[in-house]
Parts: sequence; C-alpha cells; structure tokens
Amino acid sequence: MNYLRVLDAFSIVGYFVLSAWLALRMLGSYALDGDGLLLFYSAIGLLLAYLAADLLSGIVHFLADNFGNADTPVLGPALIHPFRDHHDDPQGITRHGFLETNGNNCLICIPVLLGIHYIYDWISPRFAFLLGAAVNGTLAFIFLTNQIHKWAHQSSPASFVSMLQRTGIILSPSHHALHHRAPHLTNYCITSGWLNPVLDRSGILRLILRISGKLPGPESLAREDGQRT
Ligand SMILES: [Zn+2]
Ligand SMILES: [Zn+2]
Repeated sequence: MNYLRVLDAFSIVGYFVLSAWLALRMLGSYALDGDGLLLFYSAIGLLLAYLAADLLSGIVHFLADNFGNADTPVLGPALIHPFRDHHDDPQGITRHGFLETNGNNCLICIPVLLGIHYIYDWISPRFAFLLGAAVNGTLAFIFLTNQIHKWAHQSSPASFVSMLQRTGIILSPSHHALHHRAPHLTNYCITSGWLNPVLDRSGILRLILRISGKLPGPESLAREDGQRT
C-alpha cells in the first residue's frame, strides 16, 4: 500500500468519526429544544444540501482541472493528479478500490467538520441542529460523489444505480460524457449534474479562466462549441 492509500484510509476514518460525532451532538441539541418544525426545516436543508454538493463538486473539479499541478503539496497527488489523469484515462476510475475512490473527498470534508465542531457550542441548540443537518447532509452527498462519478463510467452498474441515473436523480453517463470532450470546459458538476446548465451558462468559470490567463486558444473553444451544436 503506498502512502496515498494510507492518507485515503486516515481521511475516510477521520471523516466518519467526525461526522458521527456531529450526529451525536445534533441528537443532544434536539433533546434540548427539538420539535416537528425543526425536522421539517432539516428536511428542506437536506434537499438544499444535495444542490450544494453538486455545486461544490463542480467548483472543486473546476479548480483541480485548471489550477495547480501534481506537485502541489498534499492536494497535488491526492486531488489534482486524479482529476487530470481521469481525462487521459476515463475508464481508470472504474478500477479504483474503495480507498482510492473515496479518500480524497473525505480529506476535503475533514477541515469543514473540524470547523463546525469548533463553533458548535457557540450557537443555540436549534440553529446548531439545523447547521449540523445541512453540513452533515452536504458532506454525505460529497462523500457519495466520487462513487456516483465512478458509476457514470461503468458499462453495467447495478440496476438500482441505472434507475437513479435514468431518472436523473444522480449523474447519468450521457450527461457526464459532455465533460469528457476536449477541452473539458463544461459540465464540471458530478453529483447530480443538475447545476451544470446554470454554471455553464453563467459564464463565470470561463471568466475566471480568462482573468487567470488559463483559457485555451480560440481554436479549441470553437471546436468545443461546434461539438455542442
Ligand atoms: Zn475534468
Ligand atoms: Zn468522468
């Protein structure tokens, strides 16, 4: 096992411990000041968490595809290299085991969970419960994102996965295939893909690339636009 798989294993264990601890603290908050209305708001929070996870997956994917390199400390080998390598070998992800598939997402979740635990007792029990539901929900969907991405590349995933893909509840292979066309500048969101039209049509990502001098030449952009029509 190389050191990256060790980092993946620590990241996954760290994520699950911190997330379960947050859930326990939420139970304590609910016991202090919980009711049906709080659960209703939490359910809405979970729906928003699914959207937030999709948006964050797009932002992280965009940053990893376009900024830094494999030599960037920690994030280079753990996050940036896998995204870049994925363009050269899209099917490689289907050969990744549990640690390689889920470790880097858990690594990103850990600082967020540490931050929530740090401030948890500063706020009222009701708000702490809502915040915990939103954060734990968002991070759980982020945890699932690489698995969903992997399913989008598998030729014959399990039937319940195919059903979720067909209904558009999770990222479908046909939708994600749009990202795998050079120069890979659209459809970055890889949880449900619901926010890709919003993110792509807003032009914000191309603006960031243009400002930072990383936008590919006009020929490749024209080629991408030609493929989309
Ligand atoms: Zn990509
Ligand atoms: Zn992919």
